[in-house]
Order: sequence, then C-alpha cells, then structure tokens
Amino acid sequence: MTSLLQRYYNLVGGTKHEAENGAWIESFDPYRGSPWAEIPRCGPADVDKAVTAARKAFEGAAWRGLTASSRGKLLWRLADLIERDAEKLARLEVRDNGKLFAEMHGQLRYIPEWYRYFGGLADKVEGSVIPTDKADIFNYTLREPLGVVAAITPWNSPLLLLTWKLAPALAAGNTVVIKPSEHASVSTLAFVDLFEEAGFPPGVVNTITGFGRDVGDALVAHPLVAKVAFTGGDATGAAVAAKAGEGIKHVSLELGGKSANIVFEDAAIDDAVRGAIAGIFAASGQTCIAGSRLLVQRSIHDEFVAKLVDFARPAKLGDPMEPETNVGPVTTTQQLERVLRYIDIGRQEGAKCMLGGGRPKDGVLGQGWFVEPTIFTGVENEMRIAQEEIFGPVLSVIPFDDDEDAVRKANQVAYGLAAGLWTRSMPRAIRLAARLEAGTVWVNTYRAVSYTSPFGGYKRSGLGRESGKRAIEEYLQTKSVWISCAEGFSNPFVMR
Ligand code: NAD
Repeated sequence: MTSLLQRYYNLVGGTKHEAENGAWIESFDPYRGSPWAEIPRCGPADVDKAVTAARKAFEGAAWRGLTASSRGKLLWRLADLIERDAEKLARLEVRDNGKLFAEMHGQLRYIPEWYRYFGGLADKVEGSVIPTDKADIFNYTLREPLGVVAAITPWNSPLLLLTWKLAPALAAGNTVVIKPSEHASVSTLAFVDLFEEAGFPPGVVNTITGFGRDVGDALVAHPLVAKVAFTGGDATGAAVAAKAGEGIKHVSLELGGKSANIVFEDAAIDDAVRGAIAGIFAASGQTCIAGSRLLVQRSIHDEFVAKLVDFARPAKLGDPMEPETNVGPVTTTQQLERVLRYIDIGRQEGAKCMLGGGRPKDGVLGQGWFVEPTIFTGVENEMRIAQEEIFGPVLSVIPFDDDEDAVRKANQVAYGLAAGLWTRSMPRAIRLAARLEAGTVWVNTYRAVSYTSPFGGYKRSGLGRESGKRAIEEYLQTKSVWISCAEGFSNPFVMR
C-alpha cells in the first residue's frame, strides 16, 4: 500500500535506497502528536551495504587520491550549501523533534562554521621527523585516517551533533556511515543530499536508518567499521562501547548529564535567573548540558526561587515554529512518559513542586507532547530527581551553604558533562572551576559552545572530545616509518 506520508530515503554509495525488506518507520510531529513522514526501517543487510560502500569509497582513488587541501575545499563548499539551505533544514528538524525554530535555525546557521574550521585544519595535520637514538635511521610519522567511521546520533539536535563528528572525520580523510535516531532522521536524510552537489565522491557519506537494536548493533559490530562516534544516553553508550571493544574499534562517546548550575549570594541575581532558565527550559530541557540541578546558596534561596518562578511562569508553550513560543513539546511519547514519571517520583520523594508538574490540557497543547516547565524545591542531593538524567523541563533546586558544600554537592553525581557558576568573584570562579568534575564550566553564562572549543564529558558523561582543533585526533592514527641509511644490514638475530 502506498503511504500518504512523505518518504525520505537513505543515501548509500551515492544513490537513494529504501530498506531491503521494504519496511518503513513513521516519523512523528511532536507538536501535533501525529505522523508526518516515513523513513526506511533497515536491517543488518542494509547495514552491510552501507558499510561496504563506505569502505569502497575509502579505498577508491576519488577520495584517497585527494590532497588534504582539496578535502578542505569540499568541506567549505558544503558549508556554503548548508548556509543556503539552513531554513529548509531547520524546518525539517522542528517538524521532526519539536524544538523551537529559533533554536534550530540558529544551529543551522552556525553549523557551517564547523565545516569551515575543520576544512581549514585538513591540510594542517602533520607528521614529524623523529630524532631517534639510531644514527643510521631516518624515522618519520604519518597521520592517517582510520577508515570507516560509524556516526550514531540522538534526536535532540540531529544535524549539530552529527556535524561535530562529520567535520573532523571527513577532514581527516575517513568515510562515514551515519545512523541517526529513529525518532528524528528526516533532516539528516535531507542534509546528505548536499554532499553530491558539494562534489564529494559517492560513498564517502552514507546513511542507515532504523532502530538501534536492528541496525545500531549490526553497525557497531561490522568488521569494516574502524571507529564508532556515538552521542546518546549513557546506558546505550556503555553497550556500544562494549560491542566496539569486542572488535577492538576506536570509540568516542558523548553521553548524558546532570549538570549543576551553581548560584552564589554575590551573583548578579537577574542574570543568574535567566541563566537558570536557559539551563533547563530552553529546548524543553532536552539537552545533554541541561543545568537540571540548580544549586542555590542558602542565604538567597527563597528570594531566588521566587524570582525564578515569576520569570518561568509566563513562558509560552506552543507551536515551535512561532517566534513568540518559549517552550515546545518533548520529542517522543516515550520521553513524555519518562518526564511525567520523574515528576511523580519527585513528589513521592518529598520534593515540593513550585511550578508546573504535569501536562497542559487545553486545545492543541493537549494533543502535542507538552510538559509544563516544572520546578521542585526541597530537593536533597541524594534524591533520584537530583541524580538521574530526566531530559525534560524539570528543575531540581538544591540549597548549599558555602564553597566547599557547593563543590561537594556538584560533584556528587555519576555524570560530569557541564557546570555553571554564577558569582561576581573571579578568584572564586577560577578556584571552583578547577575543582568541578565537568568537561565544560561556564561562569556567568550557560549553554555557550563553539567549533573552536573542546566539548565532552568527565565520568559517565563520555570519552573523547568534539570541537576544537584536537578533535581531529579522534579520527586519525599514527604510522611510524623507519628508513635505514646504513650500508648493509647488521646482525639479523638481535633487535636493532
Ligand atoms: P539513545 O541512547 O536512546 O540513542 C542514541 C542513538 O543510539 C540512536 O540513534 C539510537 O537508535 C542508537 N542506538 C540505540 N541502541 C543502540 C545499539 N544497541 N547500538 C547502536 N546504536 C544504538 O539516546 P536518545 O534518547 O536518542 O538521546 C538522548 C540522550 O542523548 C540523552 O541521554 C542525552 O543526554 C544524550 N545526549 C548527549 C549529548 C552530548 O553531546 N553529550 C548530546 C545530546 C544528547
């Protein structure tokens, strides 16, 4: 039966493919709570085709024979095309994951900078000449790509998080198979159309859509995949790393978080209120860096919470495409259930709900997958709502007494992705930034990222770094070449 929904196809070896078994997955519009598109539901046979195409492209002269400068120029051309299509791609993401157009369009306009930055870096990857202790040996290193990279992405910011992998992977000369989230694959499938237009050889970039258990597993296990670059939840990340370990593959993991946003009594209070809101209600709390634990110094706790609630209460829930909307829906029904479950847990644990605490029921908001911005006070650091990643608009406010107490509470969690500090004292900021177990620390700001600055997690939040010039190292390996300048060969029975 032909579907009335718009269908999007995978790109494999430069051509469009549906799944070999002809199955499809419906992609839902979270604002309307109804399906709007279909993506191929692939299986292991499709994975094999995509990886084989990527390996063929990796070995082929059309890609391998390019100079690093030429690879860089392809990435720049791609950046220009993304800029041209930014609005179209942002609209697809919003339809698929319900995040605000203002947020996704901002991301799409910024994404080209990653391709320009890593495109510029492509021909600055250098080996070295090593002064060995052997006078008659000339020894140098080559920095080489790994081969086929599997890039596995989540649904919350599909193209941004893909870009963090794709730009350095391609700059280094790898080829890629992308596995986007089954919940939000459409923008990725539309985006990869740009590669042919930019001039990339077929097979350098491929996609494979489907469920994690059907294709994710097969992709990670495929013997021709050399590296897995994964963004997603920590439980999935642990399974991916274990599977990749069986095949001795390179792995980088960008995982979840439970980040502390810490407000001291000497902070610029109105800025800190905005920073706390940005940390948890932007993107409906569906960001890995969500400042979902708000640590507030006890001396200003009540005043701060009152201001926070006053600021958050009028936030407008609504159509994510509309500029006046502040908070969109969460992306999936599973996520909706999960967030509501955690709100119940918070109540059962004895926390006090100061704002929100459920689904809005009126009109179109009742059909969409909305959760009210929710603020809990009276939260103890040991409670589940203070320790577990909710990935929704739910804030846990935890009081602290002094610097020591703030650091102890901030670090007493399994994750370590980010932290925020709000204080007018720079000596305190510098002292505490060094003691927080987090890959990113923001002082008097929140949710700032750049292509120039490394991003990644401590502890259960991940392995490896994305962005910044060292990120290209994650996609390279080193070869050491030894050339003898000696006349003849010395004793063959001993090591040289
Ligand atoms: P998820 O772990 O459920 O899925 C992520 C991806 O992994 C999806 O494409 C999924 O299909 C795939 N997958 C699932 N099982 C797999 C398997 N066995 N083998 C291989 N792939 C498999 O995560 P999600 O729900 O899509 O995203 C939300 C999570 O992502 C949150 O925990 C969030 O914190 C995290 N996240 C982290 C960052 C970061 O940069 N640190 C950024 C965004 C999101």
